[in-house]
Amino acid sequence: MQGQHQSQSPMTSAHIAQTMTLLYMTSTELLQTIDSELSKNPALELINERRCPMCNRKLPAHGPCPICSQPKTIDPEETIVFISPRDDFYTYKGSGTSHTSDIPEDPFSSVDLDLPTYVLRQVAPELETDEREIAAMILTNLNEDGFLSIDILEICRFHHVAPSKVEEVLQKIKRCDPLGVSARNVQEALLTQVDYLSKSSPVPEFVRRSISEHFDLLSKRQFTVLARKLGTNLQKIKDVSHFISENLNPYPARANWGSFRQPNGNAPDVFHQPDVMIYYLNNKPGNPLVIEIITPSRGTLRLNPLFKRALKEKTGEDQEEWKKDLDKASLLIKCIQQRNNTMRQLMERLVAIQKSFIIQGDTELEPLTRAQIADELSVHESTISRAVANKTVQLPNKKIIAMSTFFDRSLAVRAIMRNIIENENHAMNDTEIRKRLECQGIEIARRTVAKYRAMEGILPAHMRRIEKFATV
Ligand SMILES: [Zn+2]
Repeated sequence: MQGQHQSQSPMTSAHIAQTMTLLYMTSTELLQTIDSELSKNPALELINERRCPMCNRKLPAHGPCPICSQPKTIDPEETIVFISPRDDFYTYKGSGTSHTSDIPEDPFSSVDLDLPTYVLRQVAPELETDEREIAAMILTNLNEDGFLSIDILEICRFHHVAPSKVEEVLQKIKRCDPLGVSARNVQEALLTQVDYLSKSSPVPEFVRRSISEHFDLLSKRQFTVLARKLGTNLQKIKDVSHFISENLNPYPARANWGSFRQPNGNAPDVFHQPDVMIYYLNNKPGNPLVIEIITPSRGTLRLNPLFKRALKEKTGEDQEEWKKDLDKASLLIKCIQQRNNTMRQLMERLVAIQKSFIIQGDTELEPLTRAQIADELSVHESTISRAVANKTVQLPNKKIIAMSTFFDRSLAVRAIMRNIIENENHAMNDTEIRKRLECQGIEIARRTVAKYRAMEGILPAHMRRIEKFATV
């Protein structure tokens, strides 16, 4: 139904450009694009009929293609990959063949947004007009810990405002998730979190004062001195340190923002449907893996036959305009197919390589680059980059991850490191951790250890000593 119109022409640059653009989109964005094109292009038509994007079979009103979503052999190692047109995209609760897809309760971490955008979304409604530019300047000057890396006075000078104005905006931003973002240092971030938490739940005595007045003693684990200075006993200080380790995050921007560590569990409005779902056939571990690639659709797109017929009777300028519409519609249909094909090939390969990771977890992740996959599939690396960008994948354990995780070279190392620290019998410093990793055949620099540790939200040794091994 598509294709006849320009099947002879090779890939035009418009074709490539559009495929690239579509590849970059999430399923939701793709749906919006289709809707927008449908509303303005009379040559494009949506018919109320579901067809399988892979075999073109007519499909029942709901559920995936009964042929493509089933195994073709009895080989348990076989992976089933199919494209799943979703007419019920926004309300989807379960696939036709299984019950794999309860939407997870916990808000999916906003991995596909950068921190400034993520925070801006939250704070924007609270900002007065004259505060917007100040907020923008603050958010574009956050370092990788989420701390403000520029002097307030500089912001004042730049925007010709009083420091109190900048402070007001900072206060609004600091209350966003991750709590304490845009603070100037760890101490300020922790205090912001304490103040926020104390509104909804009891905070142990001395937490605030330990941080605000004796932060140095606290971070140097000088518990007894701290207790004496505050006129209390050691147990109270242990409570303080326990509370801090359980509830506060010294580096607001590290790794976990937007996810479950968020203290009050407010779901940020960034959750979206996974673009790909991986589960066991019939939801039974041991069965072949099924890869369901979601393509949003409320029906089948095609070129409007009436429009095509009418085009033949047109002449002159009109005909040119109409022809352009027809070309555009045809291109969109083609490119969506192309997008589906690329996603299918990519996922098939990715799952083959990362099967152990998918089934067994982080430590099993194979080192893999986008270039390697591009090479295997004989496509350009940028094609893979776009296909991976912004996409999310739901794993058999229902966890939704960014597709880019499949290429995260540090993930496996971080998992091993997490394990080492969980089982430490004294608070190991980064040099010791580095040596331990070396024993397991992983050679990384000490500063890389520090970086990974922070990405995992694990405190440095002297802080861990306070929480885990507080026996003075
Ligand atoms: Zn099919």
